[in-house]
Order: sequence, then C-alpha cells, then structure tokens
Amino acid sequence: MANVLILGAGYAGLRVAKLLAKHPQQMTITIVNDHPYHYESTQLHEVAVGTREPADITFSLRDVLPANVALVVDTVTKIDRDDQRVELAHHDPLSYDYLVNSLGFESETFGIPGAEENGLPMIDIDTAVAARKHLEDTLAHYSTSHDPDDLHIIVCGAGFTSIEYLGDLVHRMPQLIAAYHLPADQIKIDCIEAMPKVLPMFSQDLADYAVHYLESHGVTFHTSTPITKIDPGVVHSKDTSYTAHTIIWTTGVQGSHVITDSGYDQKRNRVVVTNDLSVKDHPHEFVIGDVSAVPDPASGRMYPTTAQIAVAQADTAAHNIRALINGRTPSPFSFQSLGTVCSLGPTNGVAEINFMGHWKLKGKIVGPLKKIVNDRSVLELANVRTMLASD
Ligand code: NAD
Repeated sequence: MANVLILGAGYAGLRVAKLLAKHPQQMTITIVNDHPYHYESTQLHEVAVGTREPADITFSLRDVLPANVALVVDTVTKIDRDDQRVELAHHDPLSYDYLVNSLGFESETFGIPGAEENGLPMIDIDTAVAARKHLEDTLAHYSTSHDPDDLHIIVCGAGFTSIEYLGDLVHRMPQLIAAYHLPADQIKIDCIEAMPKVLPMFSQDLADYAVHYLESHGVTFHTSTPITKIDPGVVHSKDTSYTAHTIIWTTGVQGSHVITDSGYDQKRNRVVVTNDLSVKDHPHEFVIGDVSAVPDPASGRMYPTTAQIAVAQADTAAHNIRALINGRTPSPFSFQSLGTVCSLGPTNGVAEINFMGHWKLKGKIVGPLKKIVNDRSVLELANVRTMLASD
C-alpha cells in the first residue's frame, strides 16, 4: 500500500484528497490541516468587513472528507525530505511514499518596517475576524474619543483582495454609520497603491469601472505611492504620511514559511515545479496551490496563484499520483484560465470570462456571477448540503 500524505486542506489539498478517495486502491490517504475546517479564502474579505460570518465561509473537514481519508488536525512544522517524513507541532512525525504539499499562503510584508505589527491582514479566519473587530471597535470608539482618525480607514495595495474588501466596505458603511451614529461626511477611506494602475490584471476599462464605482462611494485612490513604513496609526510613503486608526494590509501573499524551513529551493516561499507538478529530483513529491510557482509556457512567466489554478493543479497531481502507483508515466500540467471575477460588494463587480469567446462584464450582472463561482467551488469541495447552508 502506498502511503499518500497531503499537507493543507485549502482548495488544492482538499480536492486531491477527494479525487484520490474515489479510487483508493493500493493507497492510504492522510490529510493534515491546522484547523478542523476548510475556509473559502476568496471570501475572507467579507468576514473582515462583517458582511459574512465565519460560519458562512467555513465547513467541517470531517463532514466533507470521504471516510477513507484520515484527518490529522495539527500544524506542519517541517518536511524532512530525505527521510520522507513530516514533522508536526503536537503529533509524532508522519512518513509518506507520496507527498502533496499544498500548505497555502501567508501575508507578504516585503520587509516593510511596521507592516506586520501595525497592519491588519486577512489571510485566515482568525485574522479576518480580528480585522472586523478592529474596524467595528474603532468606529464605535469615535463616540467617546471624537478623534477623526477613528473614522479613517487605509487599505494598503489595490490588487484583488484590497478592491474586493473596499467593495464590501462601502456596501456595509451605511449600516455602520447608523449603528454607531457616525458623522457620514467625516468617514475617510484611502487606498494606497505602489503601481500606477489599480487592478492590473484587468483591462483598463474594467479597472476604470472599479475605480469610479469605489470613488463614487467615498474611496480615494493614491496610485504610484509605494508604502515604505507603518507606524501605529500612520502609513508612510516617500513624500507623504497618511493617518488612520484602521490600516488594512492587503499588498499580496507569499507561500507558507514551512517551504523555507524545509530547505526547498524557493522564491517568496514558492517552489518552481516541473511540468508534471513534482519537485525536480523528487518525483514522488508534488507541490501545488500557493506554495508552487508554475511557468506558463506561453508567456514564460509564472501563472498568478489563484483558487482556479490550485483546483486545476489538484486534478493533475491526483492523476499523476495514481499513474505512478500503477507504473504509468505522469502527465504534464496544462491550464486554460476560465477568467477572473472581482466583486465590488455583493451586487456589483468586474469580470473577464473565457467561455465561448472572451467576455468583459461589469456592473450588477457580476454579482450573481460571483455567487455562481463561489457556489461551484463549495459544491466541488464539499457537497450540496454545505452549499445551501452557506447561502
Ligand atoms: P495582489 O498581488 O493581487 O495585490 C497586491 C497589490 O499591492 C498590488 O497591486 C501591489 O502593487 C500592491 N503593493 C505591494 N507592495 C506595496 C507597497 N509597499 N505599497 C503599496 N502597494 C503595494 O495580492 P492580493 O490582492 O493579496 O491577492 C493575492 C493573490 O490571490 C493574487 O494572486 C490574486 O490573483 C489572488 N486573489 C484572487 C481573487 C479572485 O480571483 N477574485 C481574490 C483575491 C485574491
């Protein structure tokens, strides 16, 4: 019996487990995750704003994993690749014949002083809940402090997560203003971006739509403004400083630090994988999801790390593990993006879809589209009951 060990139950790891469990002949399957639940990382911004509760975007792993997959709830601390075993914080080490490393992402601070201490990331349920609590407590505090900075919110970066966070924030703001009796005209929301363009992955007209939508709801963008330092309540760029008591840190992500701790050849905790998604000279070791870097043969650059590519990688990794166990040659990974959807709150957004042509969409049509994408993800990873429960 081959011993397959999967690290991380995000989009990639959970899908590998479910695919392998359908035909588990000649293998045992174990998945290790640091929580007993999976969370939809593409919806963390909604929990961080407070438009969704954690229970809406999480589901119990034991409920959705097939019975023939063993679940170990623990934190992976190191992978001993020579001895083919994985060290855990609280359990004895686990050995493996085949490894799927899908340990996911962490916040990226690029070494900017004060970012870790003074910025609020949203990289898991705990940090998203902490960001929501900070936002609500700070707005509530204004009634006794009358400090204008209690009403100021700065979002660092203008990529996907920042824009989706801002979309939900401006949607919820009228409710927050009413709940805490806030002076609406003194609320200030700044978004500070290093690059000249907001949402660089979208065509200019869609990025412009997102910017105009958010500006018309009270957001001020500061582009070409790299953040250099964060002090408590102050965001510094080269020429200017901005003050706010809520500073949201969404400037990008890196892979899990376990990658560096385990001695992989890596960049930003991502491992460049071979074309069958294994690690060079380690054909039994697959690295997928946000800890992997996959070259796009067309552009020569790395594909962006998204939930969509993580799921596609999981399909190839599961196929290749089964091929190796049965003495067949693994297949190369290929990826055709279905497109990208960026929500602007629950009822609006922008999208570029590759389905029977290339479609650019903006406005209210994108709200239901995003819901379809989310429902499809839950359906693929969990089941119908979980999908209906998350509505
Ligand atoms: P991102 O890389 O998309 O955006 C980060 C932004 O922060 C960039 O625009 C960058 O220029 C800016 N930035 C970096 N350093 C800065 C600095 N010092 N000062 C000011 N700005 C700075 O990262 P993300 O939004 O965290 O997303 C992470 C990954 O997850 C991406 O690959 C993204 O595609 C994916 N994602 C996808 C979706 C979706 O498909 N709807 C949603 C969220 C995230």
